[in-house]
Amino acid sequence: MIKFNHVNKWYGPNHHVLKDINLEVKQGEVVVVCGPSGSGKSTMIRTINQLEPVNDGEIWIGDVQVTSPKTNINKLRAEVGFVFQHFNLYPHLSVLENITLAPIRVKGMKQDEAEKLALTLLERVGLADKKNAYPSNLSGGQQQRVAIARGLAMNPGVMLFDEPTSALDPEMIGEVLQVMKTLAESGMTMMVVTHEMGFAREVADRVLFLDQGVVLEDAHPEAFFTNPQHDRAKQFLRQIL
Ligand code: ADP
Ligand code: MG
Repeated sequence: MIKFNHVNKWYGPNHHVLKDINLEVKQGEVVVVCGPSGSGKSTMIRTINQLEPVNDGEIWIGDVQVTSPKTNINKLRAEVGFVFQHFNLYPHLSVLENITLAPIRVKGMKQDEAEKLALTLLERVGLADKKNAYPSNLSGGQQQRVAIARGLAMNPGVMLFDEPTSALDPEMIGEVLQVMKTLAESGMTMMVVTHEMGFAREVADRVLFLDQGVVLEDAHPEAFFTNPQHDRAKQFLRQIL
C-alpha cells in the first residue's frame, strides 16, 4: 500500500535528512514510527502525500507513484488522510462543515449526502452531539477526533498521523488513541508517528525506529521493545519508557 524505494531528501545542500529509506507497508498494516526529535519522522511521513518533495528515489501509494511529476496531487491527497499534531480545523466552520467541505468541494458530493456521511463519521468518533459546535468550543481531544473524522471523509486508503496526541492535555490522550485503535481494528492502513509506546505495543504490527534520517530498526513491537538491535534504540527506549 505504501512503498519507499531508496528515498533520499536534503534540506538545502548539506542537510541529508532522509537517508536511503526503503520500506513497505501492506494493506491493513499499522506502522508506528518513533525516534529522537529531529530524526526525520515528520519529514518522512510528509513525503507520502508530497507535503515535502524528495530529491531521490520513489514513493508509491498502491499503484500511484507519488514522486512522479505526472501524479495528480489532489487525487493523491484524497487517497491519503493526514492528521497533524495541531488539529488544523477551520475555526470559522462548524464541526459538520469542517467534515463536509472536502467531500463537497473535491469530490462533488451533494450536501445532504456529505452531511449524512459526516454524521456517520462523527458517531464513529463519539461526537455526533457536537455536529453544530465550532472548534473553539471543543476540547483538544474532541478537536483531534473531529480532525480524524474529517480525514476519513474522503474515504482514504491510508491514514497518516504525525504525533496526534503530543499537543493534548494528558487526560485527553486516551480518547484519541482509542479512536485510532478502533480505526486500526477496522482494517485501515496506518502510519503513525507517536511516542505513545503503549499504543505501539498494543496496536502496531511493526515499529520503525528512525535515527538521523536512517531507519535503524523495523521490527514487530514485541521484538523492538524487548530486544532492540541498536544502542541508539536502547538509549531512546530507556529515555521514554
Ligand atoms: P522529527 O519529526 O523526527 O522531529 P523532522 O522531520 O521535523 O524531525 O526534522 C528533521 C530535521 O530536518 C531536523 O534537523 C529539522 O530541523 C530539519 N527540518 C525540518 N523541516 C525543515 C525545513 N522545512 N527546512 C529545513 N530544515 C528542516
Ligand atoms: Mg516531528
